[in-house]
Amino acid sequence: MTQVPVVELKDLDLAYVTDREAVLALEAMNLTVSSGEFISLVGPSGCGKTTLLSVIAGLLPPSRGEILVHGKPVQGPSPEVGYMLQQDYLFPWRSILENALLGLELTGRLNEESRSSVLELLDGMGLGNTANQYPHQLSGGMRQRVALVRTLATNPDLLLLDEPFSALDYQTKLQLEDLVVDTLRQRGKTGILVTHDLSEAIAVSDRVIVLAARPGRIRKTYVIPDNIAKAQPFYAREEAGFNDLFHEIWRDLETLEGKGE
Ligand code: ADP
Ligand code: MG
Repeated sequence: MTQVPVVELKDLDLAYVTDREAVLALEAMNLTVSSGEFISLVGPSGCGKTTLLSVIAGLLPPSRGEILVHGKPVQGPSPEVGYMLQQDYLFPWRSILENALLGLELTGRLNEESRSSVLELLDGMGLGNTANQYPHQLSGGMRQRVALVRTLATNPDLLLLDEPFSALDYQTKLQLEDLVVDTLRQRGKTGILVTHDLSEAIAVSDRVIVLAARPGRIRKTYVIPDNIAKAQPFYAREEAGFNDLFHEIWRDLETLEGKGE
């Protein structure tokens, strides 16, 4: 039996309509993401990366075409899909544990069992002793780990990550890349990452999708060779073929940046 893809976009358009104009943000998008796959979206600013994640998350209805998650048309946000943003958006007046429990609270699934699984998650991310602390007492990297725990707490099958590492220092970013990829792989989750760091995209992904702007559309898909895709992100950068691939996609991105505006 063939598995139903986790995400399917079929000829999808998304237009933002305001009282003065309509902006076609995504045009004729076709994309299939399989279970357990990790893909990255790269492309110039304004090419529709965030818009695409919001459509998949059920926050924006498509103007044309279809978006299916687990074979069913997306009707709105669902607990099966977790969305993690660049900024951690932790509530300053809530403790770390209370922040991590938020999604469970909002979906009415907070109980003794789910609460102890979140404590375990915090522990596993080296945050066990911060449960009763407050966001301002933590570093940026620790706060992003809390946001990751909060995203994982509701046990979504698909994770959408919008530049989750871009505000972090380089070392913390590398550590978090490894942590996120390990966590998703161990749990068999599917991931879609938006990043402007091409080396990160190649290091963490099975496929890198290059988008072009105005209107946002898929320009090219790069399948990452197994030796790179299966390595831990930190070591993937040292694998054979990494640099050649980096330069190939870089050139592709350069031609896109140079056009239009
Ligand atoms: P990216 O994340 O790749 O930088 P976005 O998805 O944020 O791109 O934006 C894609 C395009 O849609 C841009 O041209 C942007 O100006 C436009 N856009 C984004 N959000 C809105 C909105 N809420 N209303 C109108 N236009 C928008
Ligand atoms: Mg964006």
